[in-house]
Amino acid sequence: MVIATHPDQALRMLADPTADEKRLLGAFTYSRNPTVLHTDTSLLPRSPKARASWNYRMTGCEPSTAPVHVSYDMERLQRLPAGSGYVVTLGGDTGIAPDRVVERMVYEHPVYTPASVAAQKELPRLNTGVTAYAGAWHGWGFHEDGCRSGVEAARSLGVDW
Ligand SMILES: Cc1cc2nc3c(=O)[nH]c(=O)nc-3n(C[C@H](O)[C@H](O)[C@H](O)COP(=O)(O)OP(=O)(O)OC[C@H]3O[C@@H](n4cnc5c(N)ncnc54)[C@H](O)[C@@H]3O)c2cc1C
Repeated sequence: MVIATHPDQALRMLADPTADEKRLLGAFTYSRNPTVLHTDTSLLPRSPKARASWNYRMTGCEPSTAPVHVSYDMERLQRLPAGSGYVVTLGGDTGIAPDRVVERMVYEHPVYTPASVAAQKELPRLNTGVTAYAGAWHGWGFHEDGCRSGVEAARSLGVDW
């Protein structure tokens, strides 16, 4: 069986976790990130030529007090028709015109700490041949990391892909 949830969710699902499962799955924490789908393109660089798929904006110079926004230009990322103006912004709704908001979500992202990075190296110990774990938290939190961990989980259960 492959458990492909976040590690804190996996730990809550286990009726009788082993010491290694408690220690290694418990080493990962997640941050909750308010996310807004909207059409306020003022969150992107003014010049379309300066726009990237991911665009960050700091509302001040001090990172500890000024929230950082990351805005995804969905037109570019999803090849939407020019002018549709869809943007996904992480990090709060400061500066987003309320009448341009389409949907609000909350997503969770893994927080990388020395303890979680050290735990990653030991994750293969959790694969018993009966259960295995998968998810982007096995790597740096990207799609490719999730995919690679799924292949590894299958391999630990005797399936090559
Ligand atoms: C807005 C946003 C943009 C992103 N953009 C990119 C990008 O451009 N490129 C990139 O590489 N990555 C991107 N990411 C990151 C990437 O999407 C995630 O890292 C990836 O989806 C995480 O995969 P995962 O399998 O670890 O977790 P998830 O995709 O979160 O899967 C965990 C699953 O476990 C399920 N689950 C939870 N509890 C239980 C339970 N008790 N029983 C059964 N199932 C349960 C959940 O429903 C969920 O389906 C983005 C993330 C966000 C939020």
